Amino acid sequence: MIKVRFAPSPTGPLHIGGARSALFNYLLARRENGVFIVRSEDTDLERSSRESEHNILEALRWLNIKWDEGIEAGGENGPYRQTERLDLYRKYTKKLLESGHAYYCYCSEEEIEEERQALIAKGETPRYMGKCRHLTEEQKAKYEAEGRKPVVRFRVPEGQQIVIHDQVRGEVVFESDGIGDYVIVKSDGIPTYNYAVVIDDSTMHITHVVRGEEHLSNTPRQVLIYQALGLTPPEFAHISLILNTEGHKMSKRDGDTAVIDYKAKGYLPEAVVNFIAFMGWAPSGEEEFFTLEELEKIFSLDRVSKSPAVFDLNKLNYINAQYIKQSSPERLAEIALPYLQDMGVMPQGELPEEKRTWLLHFVKAVVNHLSYMAQVQEYVQYFHGAEAPAPEGEALDILHGEQVPEVLELFKTKLQALEEVTVEEIKPLLKQITKELKLGGKLVYMPIRIALTGQMHGPELYDIIPLLGRENVLKRLEATGQ
Ligand code: GLU
Repeated sequence: MIKVRFAPSPTGPLHIGGARSALFNYLLARRENGVFIVRSEDTDLERSSRESEHNILEALRWLNIKWDEGIEAGGENGPYRQTERLDLYRKYTKKLLESGHAYYCYCSEEEIEEERQALIAKGETPRYMGKCRHLTEEQKAKYEAEGRKPVVRFRVPEGQQIVIHDQVRGEVVFESDGIGDYVIVKSDGIPTYNYAVVIDDSTMHITHVVRGEEHLSNTPRQVLIYQALGLTPPEFAHISLILNTEGHKMSKRDGDTAVIDYKAKGYLPEAVVNFIAFMGWAPSGEEEFFTLEELEKIFSLDRVSKSPAVFDLNKLNYINAQYIKQSSPERLAEIALPYLQDMGVMPQGELPEEKRTWLLHFVKAVVNHLSYMAQVQEYVQYFHGAEAPAPEGEALDILHGEQVPEVLELFKTKLQALEEVTVEEIKPLLKQITKELKLGGKLVYMPIRIALTGQMHGPELYDIIPLLGRENVLKRLEATGQ
């Protein structure tokens, strides 16, 4: 049975890249009827926080990525936070020290830095050159007496090739000589990532490690520890970096990087999942729209690409817009409501019936215009309140057109005469104006649209008028001099 894991460091919110790692692991587990673990790599005490952990788990839940074992879910291989597993790491450290695969190093930070600079000056890769590799008991005692606190370093074997059969990248070969003995336990007794991850993956019986390409260079360090402990390493699959559409590292300018920001903007989780799944993976056909359940059936590592994945916000917006169009008005109304409440357009608390009806009509009227739900805040001005945004430029010129007063006057008269202002009444009313004034549609619709919304484009006029309501329409007309 396969067992996979998502092991974020809780040093910030869940980013798109992390969400992709989580999703790929989750999909692999579902596809193979395996187990998906979520655990926390919180050994960076200064930067880790429970708040970040909470944010990460919230974001996963929002995306509907569920885990079978791990934080909050529990399981027999816990605890699932590295800082709660220190005893376990100590046991393995003892083994490595006893077998000579690891040793205490007393070099100070300044000494390490000096060595680094010297190697750089010689044009060599900076690495630890093994000063403390063969300390005698007396030397150790002397350092201890000086009050130095040692770290534990892994003794990297010389002249060895470490071959990784990566499921995405193929065979990748590393030379041990370039690696230099690395720290596995810091002087405060906290293990480093490269060490703790091995103990965790091994004791949690992880069969496949699927993670970002940035960890590829860590993999030989981890494999060496497996070998030293006589443990079998898992399969590895390193998924490509995510770049922006210009081929550079993604930054805030290309769109939000934190998943939770997309939630805040009213993206739909199933659209975000669909979008993320396609960053570095694609199914065999042309189809681009897949639900999570469908992805669970078809995802496989052999269709994960070696080339960099591309983050294209326009594509996400396109996908999200399609999902919005397919959602029920009730669901969209629920998502839209807080944005409208924030603006004071909708009241807090339980909505009165007439407001609920208005809201449902409103989302139906704007559904084809939205890339994400927060945009209802831009559109609501068309449909709500007595004041229209002032027209500018071409829109203003059109409003000063010769026949405009006549059009608006007739519109006003007809509107006042209506018993009820509904879509069904407004559609024929607008047509009648064109007939009676013998004007082309545009000459009638455009000035009315501009008078009511200040804009030349936007949602359907016959949706706008009933939602604004007679009173607001008349006030908006009045403001244009009618
Ligand atoms: N804690 C690592 C990170 O957040 C994950 C490393 C791994 O998956 O092995 O990047």
